[in-house]
Amino acid sequence: METKQFKAESKRLLEMMIHSIYTHKEIFLRELISNASDAIDKLYFKSLTDDKVGLNKDDFAIWISADKDARTLKISDNGIGMTAEELENNLGTIANSGSFKFKNENKLEEDNQIIGQFGVGFYSAFMVAKKVTVISKAYGSDKAYQWESEGIDGYTISEADKKSAGTEIILELLEDTDDENYTEFLDQYRLKSLIKKYSDYIRFPIKMECTHSRPKEQSEEDKEAKKPLEYEDYIEVETLNSMVPLWKKNKTELKEEDYKHFYVEKFYDYNEPLKYAHISNEMPAYNALLYIPAKAPFDFYSKEYEKGLQLYSNGVLIMDKCSDLLPDYFSFVKGLVDSEDLSLNISREMLQHDKQLKVIAKSIEKTISNELKKMLKNEREKYEEFWKAFGLQLKYGIYSDYGMNKEKLQDLLLFTSSNEQKLVTLDEYVTAMREDQKYIYYATGESAARIEQLPQTELVKDKGYEILYLTDNIDEFAIKSIRQYKDKEFKSVSADDLGLENDEQKEEIKAKAEENSELLDALTKALDGKVSKVTLSQRLKSHPVCLTSEGEISLEMEKVLNSMPSDQKVKANRVLEINPEHEIFTKLQSLDSTGDSDKLGKYAKLLYDQALLIEGMNIEDPVEFSNLICELM
Ligand code: ADP
Repeated sequence: METKQFKAESKRLLEMMIHSIYTHKEIFLRELISNASDAIDKLYFKSLTDDKVGLNKDDFAIWISADKDARTLKISDNGIGMTAEELENNLGTIANSGSFKFKNENKLEEDNQIIGQFGVGFYSAFMVAKKVTVISKAYGSDKAYQWESEGIDGYTISEADKKSAGTEIILELLEDTDDENYTEFLDQYRLKSLIKKYSDYIRFPIKMECTHSRPKEQSEEDKEAKKPLEYEDYIEVETLNSMVPLWKKNKTELKEEDYKHFYVEKFYDYNEPLKYAHISNEMPAYNALLYIPAKAPFDFYSKEYEKGLQLYSNGVLIMDKCSDLLPDYFSFVKGLVDSEDLSLNISREMLQHDKQLKVIAKSIEKTISNELKKMLKNEREKYEEFWKAFGLQLKYGIYSDYGMNKEKLQDLLLFTSSNEQKLVTLDEYVTAMREDQKYIYYATGESAARIEQLPQTELVKDKGYEILYLTDNIDEFAIKSIRQYKDKEFKSVSADDLGLENDEQKEEIKAKAEENSELLDALTKALDGKVSKVTLSQRLKSHPVCLTSEGEISLEMEKVLNSMPSDQKVKANRVLEINPEHEIFTKLQSLDSTGDSDKLGKYAKLLYDQALLIEGMNIEDPVEFSNLICELM
């Protein structure tokens, strides 16, 4: 018979299993039982709409049997089975069984850690077996096949005898060593406890013929003579699992550990979840397990990321990632929903229009929102951790759909505040506002440290007002979508009217601008279209200049929009503000009065470039900039 070779990645995984120093080799049983359960799920699902399957719910089962003499352990199921081709494809080429990725070429220890965290599937059988035989008959096929392998050297596939659809996996256990006891996997008590530990919630019965012992019936004479009891063995089929899925169990029975373990197992996450919620809802009726991961998956902010919750109908998995159950702004939530009210033979397309599903989705959304609010209120540190991982997604949520969801999300936002640079909510900001403060002030920039140095923040800070530091690209767009919070409008520290000046001050600066209108015009002209105007600033205290903008598009938004892949470029209407109290302004005035327009032009360019640099923007001609400095020095 031809021996076939494993595909390269499979070989590597297999090698890892065979040489595994992993201490929890026992998980192989859980893996094989899960596979059996998945296979039964498939056939059971079919049986609901197809009478030809000929099996009722109670007929489905997973059987475990151990043969101590032959040192074999058998796991069988009456699930969907595999054709010869499927045996070849599924067992010969396990690339990365769903989740498994090779992280590190030669680090066995790390690999072992991975094995511990994830389900690694069928190959884990090779942690305990020297030979694995799979006999399988696919549902609807009249032939059965046998797959056999003794490990790394390859496998064979041949025809076999098997009456009904399903799969039998026979493990020939390794010999015991000084460190490892494989024989224990033939012991019924050990098997029972492993199944209880790892596979209790499997929905189909896991059955085993268990041997018990009982006293033999004694004759009256023996009884009278008080003869000691004699014992006899008898065999009884036992169902070893409770079959209640975790989410249908009573919350009081469950420990934090159970939820966390379930998450790590099921959702292939290295890290324990940050938060979980177990929900039993009545109207609409559903059970749900919801998890917030501690860290964003590596592909979270990319197109590849698929949001969704597992959807079960009364314990039967009908969809792995039901995206309709989660709004985009909560796409980070993982978990599952189980409802009795959903029809089983519903197609993916029909599901989208299913009223019941929509009602459930609404309820789930509300639950997530409440959980987040609770966390924000009661577990601030944890919430800030959450915010670090997924805050961006909430801000996108505010901005997208024309701000339709802002009401729902605005109280979940956090921004760095100029006060001690800690994170604050909008509510906290507004509550702490000074009595005379009209606006919610914000400033934009690359980082809090950068914003801290912006001249534009001087006056607002001087007034003792708090400023929100917006450091993500999306921030200003989100803020603009919210428009106002609790009747307070948002105001950029770069806005023309900060609402800080009294009428007298306004008049004063207006008069000054009129007095110097010729100078300001000359400067504007010298900048040759780079700015729409040069004005006298009211917001600057110690700094000579700053750059602001008029109209809807701010400098920050210009940066963001122009960094997007689009042909259309936008431009903010730039305004160069000059501090009339600064010495440089006196210098400009004197240049103007002596009619040295050449020098004035050079000053204008330098001041403009300076303002750009302070804003964290590129200057057009760095060489000219440095030449000008040298010249004037
Ligand atoms: P995973 O279960 O993560 O996909 P496995 O390595 O455990 O990876 O199994 C590979 C594939 O082999 C499964 O996806 C399934 O298609 C098939 N398979 C494994 N065990 C069985 C079984 N008992 N019955 C039917 N198919 C099975």
